[in-house]
Amino acid sequence: MYDISKIRKDFPILSRSVYGKPLVYLDNAATTQKPLCVLDAMRDEYLNVNANVHRGVHYLSQQATDLHEAARETVRRFINAPSANEIVFTRGTTESINLVASSFCDAFMQKGDEVIVSVMEHHSNIVPWQMQATKKGIVVKVIPMDEKGNLILEEAEKLFTGHTKLVSVAHVSNVLGTVNPIKQITAMAHAHNVPVLVDGAQSAPHFKIDVQDLGCDFFVFSGHKMYGPTGIGVLYGKEELLDKMPPYQGGGEMIENVTFEKTTFGKLPFKFEAGTPDYIATHGLSKAIEYIEQIGIDNISAHERMLTEYCMQQMKTIEDMRLFGESEHKDAVVSFLVGNIHHLDMGTLLDRLGIAVRTGHHCAEPLMHRLGIQGTVRASFALYNTKEEIDALVAGIKRVCTMF
Ligand code: PMP
Repeated sequence: MYDISKIRKDFPILSRSVYGKPLVYLDNAATTQKPLCVLDAMRDEYLNVNANVHRGVHYLSQQATDLHEAARETVRRFINAPSANEIVFTRGTTESINLVASSFCDAFMQKGDEVIVSVMEHHSNIVPWQMQATKKGIVVKVIPMDEKGNLILEEAEKLFTGHTKLVSVAHVSNVLGTVNPIKQITAMAHAHNVPVLVDGAQSAPHFKIDVQDLGCDFFVFSGHKMYGPTGIGVLYGKEELLDKMPPYQGGGEMIENVTFEKTTFGKLPFKFEAGTPDYIATHGLSKAIEYIEQIGIDNISAHERMLTEYCMQQMKTIEDMRLFGESEHKDAVVSFLVGNIHHLDMGTLLDRLGIAVRTGHHCAEPLMHRLGIQGTVRASFALYNTKEEIDALVAGIKRVCTMF
């Protein structure tokens, strides 16, 4: 049984109040709250183990290194990557994509080569490619979507040319909640000998990720969106690709030998991990993964899909409601506008009722242009949210509507 009241006790912040109202936290796509087991593990490591990893011969350094490398193995298992050498720790999804954009382009792309993204990408999967466009003259092409928020795969197929070098798409849209058909996209791209990067920032927290089953070549995600600490993220990449890609940053930890004339680089994954890694955060992330595994990712998925469906149904009882993203494959995100009420006004008034939602373009301005709007109000769910919180949201929206 999914014991929601027991789960909520693991997150003390959920029982605080704001403006004298019980907090209803529905901004999980931006960041999730952290369970005590993650906070305790990180505090314990600082209190009892703390030492820099990899270099030290002393006891604490070896213990810290063991925790850090055990975290890499936990991440490998979580996404079913074939080898821990394919797990690179970064600061988050954004840094992972920047790493690939910079290093993949250096290794494999020339002026005039093309990368395909989709219309529903977060800025972090647009801007790094545009920076390469400015620097190297690569071209960014865009998969369109239909009115329900599904990518149009027949149009995607038409974008491939002899110059296409990479497809880089979101697994789940942070605005529409659409779960994109990654297996179909990788099959299509691989038929053209093109690798695929999947932005898993909004999928890894919500359902089982198996990178071998998805068939993707790169998979990236952030710890803080899945109950882990901020400042830690993951890049999974196939060894055969990562091996051919140059380092992204230079410094300590990533080298084999250095002279003033020449440096030889370390092996995977260290080649991509210059400087002291956030080894406390990697340990925290591994505890977050264990927490997810203990509840069961399939149980979490079922709970969140129930919440999403319930929320969509209840939203439709509100007059002048406009919902954005009505794909049948939808996960944990509900974006909306009501009548002529500005998204910022709605968000601010809901906040006064204790309800935390996000408003604005959600770092997806091109998608806003496609939808012909400036922003939405977004409610997004996590494993600890309840039907009662959705009732509070819907009642809150109805109350705000009476003020206009
Ligand atoms: N991609 C998607 C789909 C996201 O939702 C986000 C975070 N909103 C990011 C990338 C960027 O993640 P981070 O800020 O953790 O690097």
